[in-house]
Amino acid sequence: MTENENETENETENEERIAVDLYEYQGKQYFARFGIPTSPGGVADTVDEAVVQADAAGYPVVVKAQVKVGGRGKAGGIKLAADAAEARRHAEAILGMDIKGHVVHRLWVEHASDIAREYYASFTLDRPAKLHLGMLSAEGGVEIEEVAATNPDAIARLHVDPVRGIDRGAVADWVERAGLDEAARAQATDLLVELYRCYVDGDCDLAEINPLILTTDGRVHALDAKVTLDDNASFRHPEWAEYAATESEDPREVMAKEKGLNYIGLSGTVGIIANGAGLAMSTLDVVNQVGGSAANFLDIGGGANADVMAAALEVINADPAVRSIFVNIFGGITRVDEVAKGVIEALARVDLRSPIVLRLDGTNADAGRALLAPHLSDRLLSEPTMLDGARRAVALVGS
Ligand code: GDP
Ligand code: MN
Repeated sequence: MTENENETENETENEERIAVDLYEYQGKQYFARFGIPTSPGGVADTVDEAVVQADAAGYPVVVKAQVKVGGRGKAGGIKLAADAAEARRHAEAILGMDIKGHVVHRLWVEHASDIAREYYASFTLDRPAKLHLGMLSAEGGVEIEEVAATNPDAIARLHVDPVRGIDRGAVADWVERAGLDEAARAQATDLLVELYRCYVDGDCDLAEINPLILTTDGRVHALDAKVTLDDNASFRHPEWAEYAATESEDPREVMAKEKGLNYIGLSGTVGIIANGAGLAMSTLDVVNQVGGSAANFLDIGGGANADVMAAALEVINADPAVRSIFVNIFGGITRVDEVAKGVIEALARVDLRSPIVLRLDGTNADAGRALLAPHLSDRLLSEPTMLDGARRAVALVGS
């Protein structure tokens, strides 16, 4: 196996996962890059920050819960404030609020708009038609599913051939068909062309504005933003790194994320490290089968080196529930002697609380076991099979 193959494997296995659905504030910032108008505002993680942002945006403001779920308005997560004292009260009430199981940790505070009309606009992919699909309605503000169910004719559709692209004339016609107010039409046409550009050039699966508003002083802009990125396109968007999912509530997962590990926290006592998602899942099953319970799922991927192994052991070591660690490696492309070197190096770097059981098999397993032999102790044990390893790790939980 060459250096190159090793690298490729590492890249696919440990690639940083992008949060595909953006928060409203991220969606608005994404829109802004394509010239789509939004209200001036800023993010706040604390009540004091919210007041600073409100002062900057200018009163009245709207204080908006940032959670990746719709219907925030109805749930009490969106409130208008006339002055700083009111902004403070709303920020206090909304931070920490639970909206459909999502706890609010961040607010978006923007200058409030005077709304004359609320519309709906979106672009998404019509898979069966193999065309992009724009949906536009003069009846926005509410869930589009509701409009679709009660008054389907209120949604005007525009199919766009991805090869031929969008035509401003067709968009103007679409805006008219949807019944947008005369005063909104020209601006809405421009904005929808920009939204299409954002959807295509920005590699979105969905770019939705609900509501798209006409203000009482005759301006059209996006009051909400729902953007879903197509993570297959992340290779050409290095800037998406800022959307890497860090919103996990589980501190173990946050730590694992920071170290680039494919980790999911569970509630048991046996820490698990395996190479490959399939083997990691099987390891969980076998640990359960012999009467234990897994503390986590952790796939270190192919070509794991000392750094990855040390990071994996560090994350598991930080979990106070862990009583033993089962490292289950079946070397295919991964060479067991490399894994063994990783374990030895990790032992020197990480002060482990729990004993480790190793099951090392596959490519270069003999060389790997030979390397580890001088390091074996009652804190570092080796077992020949997955089942033996699981039994030993579970037995150590009680010791
Ligand atoms: P959602 O409920 O999660 O979809 O959140 P939205 O951002 O769409 O806001 C819900 C509703 O709050 C909108 O449809 C508006 O009626 C209202 N709203 C939001 N921002 C403003 C604002 O700046 N001014 C006024 N008057 N109402 C707003
Ligand atoms: Mn909305």
